[in-house]
Amino acid sequence: TTTAKASSSAANGSGTTPSSVFHRTLKTGLPMAIRGEGNYLYTASGAKILDASGGAAVVSIGHAVPEVVEAVTAQLGTLPYVSSALFGMQPAEDLASQMCNDAGFGRAIFLTGGSEAVETAIKLCRQYHVENGRPERTKFIAREISYHGNTLGALALGRHDRRRKNFMPLLSTEFHAVSPCNAYRFKNAGDSDDAYVARLAAELDAKITELGADTVAAFFMEPIVGAAAGCVPFVPGYIRAMKAVCRKHGVLFCCDEIMCGLGRSGKLHAWQWDADPNSDGDDARPDVQTLGKGLCGGYAPLSAVLVAPAVVDVFARGTGAFVNGYTFQSSGMGTAAGLAVYNYIKKHGLVEQCRLRGQLLVRLLEESVLPLPHVGSVRGNGLFIGIELVQDKETKQPYPYADKVADKIGDAVLERGAAVYYGSGCADGWEGDHIMLCPPYTITEDEIVFLVEQVKAGIQEVLSE
Ligand code: PLP
Repeated sequence: TTTAKASSSAANGSGTTPSSVFHRTLKTGLPMAIRGEGNYLYTASGAKILDASGGAAVVSIGHAVPEVVEAVTAQLGTLPYVSSALFGMQPAEDLASQMCNDAGFGRAIFLTGGSEAVETAIKLCRQYHVENGRPERTKFIAREISYHGNTLGALALGRHDRRRKNFMPLLSTEFHAVSPCNAYRFKNAGDSDDAYVARLAAELDAKITELGADTVAAFFMEPIVGAAAGCVPFVPGYIRAMKAVCRKHGVLFCCDEIMCGLGRSGKLHAWQWDADPNSDGDDARPDVQTLGKGLCGGYAPLSAVLVAPAVVDVFARGTGAFVNGYTFQSSGMGTAAGLAVYNYIKKHGLVEQCRLRGQLLVRLLEESVLPLPHVGSVRGNGLFIGIELVQDKETKQPYPYADKVADKIGDAVLERGAAVYYGSGCADGWEGDHIMLCPPYTITEDEIVFLVEQVKAGIQEVLSE
């Protein structure tokens, strides 16, 4: 059962100041953040808050890091904007070549936000088949309980029912879905990981066959499901198995790493967790990958689509042009920010640090939060950790959506000085509540101890025994 939530966030917020901004809700009185430094946010009312949500898993290296601020302002002072249709720009070239060389991709496309990257990836897959002489490939497959963005194509691809509901008449019917990979919820008791992976691979194989193998363009998945379900990782072998099914049918294999990518999982790319360590990664490397959020760390809007060499080759042998363009594509400010963040992550070994700090976070959560009566699961990789809340641990019965359990816990933890990300009720019939911990990779061990204490106290405050 839920108890009354902690008092409103007046201690952290700016009170009841009216707002002219049309936020996601019309509610006013959100805490007014006025400054960020390192792993902390400061509000107008004087509160200091550990940014353990990293915004929405965006803030990868902390706030106001001087090297990045200098790189972005230098770019602004030198050349704020040119059209990428008319000129190249050095930061975009440098970031693209590094990212492609580091992970075996052929080209990178830079956009401004995650949804724009997903739209671009969808269109790239579609045009790839046209270029390849297979224009009948128009269908896309994603997974239930997934989120791929907010624009109409991305909403059609993802399966976040609550976000889709009002807009269903506008969504293309070329988009289909198979089951997600979620061992906590959907793996049969007694099944091995291998058996679960084999079941999911067989389902994808059957779905492609049912739709008509020569009509399917691409399969999209988040290696670690973010906001739709709360940092749900794949089962070992799953990515390789899904890629193999796609290969068999000539379907492009696409990973959406907008939330889990660029170091947050403790590897540069989350799919690398599943690659055979003795291989060059090709057994798990996607044909097309999206990135956003942590790529720019919050310093300037930036997202990316990474394209495998074989896909680039098909365009090179075809028209040589991708019919897709945005005014702020490859923006100087965005790519300067991305390049500075990328270099900072490498220079300070932050991918490895993220993996190790994540291990500490999970260990402490398993010791003191998982035993709580309403915590069903603690999971994730690196500093992308989800906590699922249930009424009953045995039956895994979720709370009703209307109880807003995750929101109340998020508020209670904020009152205690740490911001966490949270979500609930992605789909009809799926009322799961989760808290997501996505701090900057620079979070210290002491801050992790503090965070776990506040999360535990917040859960205990909202969910009575
Ligand atoms: N894809 C995934 C996996 C996401 O988590 C998100 C955002 O949360 C998006 C796409 C959309 O990104 P944006 O909100 O930047 O448009």
